[in-house]
Amino acid sequence: MNLNNPVYYLKGVSNLRASIISAELGLSRLNDLLHFFPYRYIDRTKFYKINEIINNNSEIQVVGSISALKTIQQKNGARLTGKFQDETGAMELVWFKGYKWLKDSIKINTPYVIYGKLNYFKGVFSIVHPEMDLLEDYNRKLQTKLQPVYSSTDKLVNSGVSNKIFRGYLQDLLQQIFEQIQESLSAELIVSQDLIGKKEALLNIHFPTSPEMLEKAQYRLKFEELFFIQLQLVRKKLIRKNKIKGYVFAKVGDSFNEFYSKYLPFNLTNAQKKVLKEIRNDVASNAHMNRLLQGDVGSGKTIVALLAMLLAIDNGFQAAIIAPTEILASQHFNAIQELLHKMNISVALLTGSSKVKKRREIHEGLENGQLNILIGTHALLEDKVKFHNLGIAVIDEQHRFGVAQRSKMWQKNELPPHILVMTATPIPRTLAMSVYGDLDISVIDELPPGRKEVKTVHRYDSNRLAVFKFMKQEIEKGRQVYVVYPLIEESKAMDYKDLMDGYESISREFPMPKYQISIVHGKMKAADKEYEMQRFVKGETQIMVATTVIEVGVNVPNASIMVIESAERFGLSQLHQLRGRVGRGADQSYCVLLSSFKLSAEAKTRLKTMVETSDGFKIAEVDLKLRGPGNMMGTQQSGVLNLKIADVVKDTSILYKARNAAIEILQDDPNLLKPANIFIHKTYAEISKTTGAWSNIS
Ligand code: ADP
Ligand code: MG
Repeated sequence: MNLNNPVYYLKGVSNLRASIISAELGLSRLNDLLHFFPYRYIDRTKFYKINEIINNNSEIQVVGSISALKTIQQKNGARLTGKFQDETGAMELVWFKGYKWLKDSIKINTPYVIYGKLNYFKGVFSIVHPEMDLLEDYNRKLQTKLQPVYSSTDKLVNSGVSNKIFRGYLQDLLQQIFEQIQESLSAELIVSQDLIGKKEALLNIHFPTSPEMLEKAQYRLKFEELFFIQLQLVRKKLIRKNKIKGYVFAKVGDSFNEFYSKYLPFNLTNAQKKVLKEIRNDVASNAHMNRLLQGDVGSGKTIVALLAMLLAIDNGFQAAIIAPTEILASQHFNAIQELLHKMNISVALLTGSSKVKKRREIHEGLENGQLNILIGTHALLEDKVKFHNLGIAVIDEQHRFGVAQRSKMWQKNELPPHILVMTATPIPRTLAMSVYGDLDISVIDELPPGRKEVKTVHRYDSNRLAVFKFMKQEIEKGRQVYVVYPLIEESKAMDYKDLMDGYESISREFPMPKYQISIVHGKMKAADKEYEMQRFVKGETQIMVATTVIEVGVNVPNASIMVIESAERFGLSQLHQLRGRVGRGADQSYCVLLSSFKLSAEAKTRLKTMVETSDGFKIAEVDLKLRGPGNMMGTQQSGVLNLKIADVVKDTSILYKARNAAIEILQDDPNLLKPANIFIHKTYAEISKTTGAWSNIS
């Protein structure tokens, strides 16, 4: 028997069953079966005597024998009952299905081990469809007190593959191939991490000999799983650093220095300086930079990106910023043009709505190298857009871009431009290690000085009038207000109705000409959106009624109130992003979360978290716990999270150990060629070959 054999090689597994197992559980080779781990264990340590059974025992196990079988005819079919006895008493066993066959095969007055869920009716205990083993067989088979339960499907059960049958397959399999199980880690690692061997681990994960051994088996297999993911990520990062050459920005030149000394409107925070240094180190070496810049909303990522771009320009290269929406792109454009307007640097904006003539100009300037900085949306990725020499590409709010789009930036010139990915959705460190483990990560963990924390409150819909009153007071002081409606899917008609109803009631409450209101939503033409946005930016309107199109990046420092309607419908990271739109100026800002009375437990936690903290990393941790890693921004496509046994949220400490071990080994033996690492090498090669899932991250 070979672990590469298909599952039907196993005794009792017909071709049909094998194909059902493969379709339902995705297990086609014996090795897949071996690595399909139980999701829970039933404690079968305890054997009951019948006179010990009490009504609230849920699942019980008894040794006894059947003294008589009886078929009872009923309107809706027959059932078979058996009188089951031990030396202390009697109970009943009941079958509704397969009773004809059972009647013939059950041995009367022969000891059985029975197991099942207890029923109690009119003074009689019974078990329906008990699991049964002849005591003789039970004693012969690979047994365990902690019995594995495997995930299953209706289809599997209906085709006769019960948990007991499935368990039987694994019992057989393990007995037959145990000696062939290969170690996958090095002896050194096993000792230093205090792990049990692979054979022992696989045996005990399926059939634990004790709770302690189960724990050791789980630990070992989790470690192994995380270790090989980290090994791939870390290795990829090392290869990139050593092999993929990048443009060298050797000098800090005139543009950078002039801007830094004359036009920088404030002092950089220490966190900004630290990150800038990290970027400078990257681009000054001849390796390719692929850096993720995390920083909470308002932490000042843009200026860092601009300084990095000036470095590129100083070294004769062009630079680009790509943003997910036109609003954001034009905002970056305006801000950067404003910052650079006294310097001799040309900046252009390219979006889907750029006019043909403008486009032509831009294409020309790009190709002859006269254009220094191009800012835009996806439009930047079109084939027609050719740079003379793109040195750095800054990608803002990366979670909106897919993998394919990111790699498109690479195809623009002979060497890949340095990549700086900026995100305001902080990713918990552990998750970042799994999802972006091959990127370098910088964090701006400090807000510019003088920022006041946004005061956040949760109010019910019934308090809306009080909220309106408060808005009026603030508008009186010259402030501006956002009112945001959920528009989870742009196509949902109902959400539009809510938005429009809301707009009308606000228009009634805040009548013209005293008040001016802007409205922005996804169905508007880009030019109209931009026009309304600009009215708000210029202070011509006091209220901005909007959907989440304003979620990311919009910067209007005079806006000091964020009212979020139906706040219970937003996710945590979205709420956090929205709140980040206020608190950008010198005034005290407020965020009002409006919701209905009916709140799910999860929604309550979300709103409470928002009221309690403004720390994006803390919020991200809560979000991760609430929703699990698969739902976090940016993780869906990574495939890193299809884990068999480890859990990136719960197994943090193992994750750190696994990553450090991977780093240590690769530093000493980058290609895993040393004899001591032979098992690791073999497994690594196999995983890379079969999955490929972890290789498509950047
Ligand atoms: P984000 O990280 O959310 O993209 P921005 O780059 O838009 O943040 O910066 C938010 C605001 O903070 C901008 O108005 C910017 O000019 C200002 N800012 C950035 N860095 C500093 C600093 N070191 N000191 C004071 N203000 C700063
Ligand atoms: Mg920003």
